[in-house]
Amino acid sequence: MKACPYCAIVLNVVEIGGRERLACATCEFVHWNNPKPVTATVIPMDGGIVLVKRKCEPFVNDWCLPGGFIEAAEHPAESAAREVYEETGLEVQVSRLLEASAPGRGINVIILFYEAHPVGGKLIPGDDASDAGVFKQHELPTNIAFDLHRQIIHRWFKQTAEHSVGSRKAIKD
Ligand SMILES: [Zn+2]
Repeated sequence: MKACPYCAIVLNVVEIGGRERLACATCEFVHWNNPKPVTATVIPMDGGIVLVKRKCEPFVNDWCLPGGFIEAAEHPAESAAREVYEETGLEVQVSRLLEASAPGRGINVIILFYEAHPVGGKLIPGDDASDAGVFKQHELPTNIAFDLHRQIIHRWFKQTAEHSVGSRKAIKD
């Protein structure tokens, strides 16, 4: 963004609150450059998780968790379920927020990682995906897009494995 959306004049760099911002010299417009929230969802299914193969840039043909940008005034959990349905054909029930994180390195988004369980639908790749599949931990593709997706996926499998060992122990005790 370089011009004021109201006055259409070039924005100036000014310091506001200890940070450099782009601001309009004529009206009070400031380009705050706040991050955009997106969702990404871990869906346990058949002993693995659902991944989609990317059809669009960046990382075309790499796999990732289904997700996308939150629409105006949309609840983030509803957004997560909507994106899952659009990309995988699965109707899901969001069970919990796993983590909120930011990739950094100039990528101005906040990613809300959810876990959701299938309650209906059928796994079919949707608009933004060229393929969709279920992957067990040892079957995960090597080309998973986005560092944070990889980290969350590996952490989720580790915690799920620890949890199931924990419950088996508890049953034995
Ligand atoms: Zn202006």
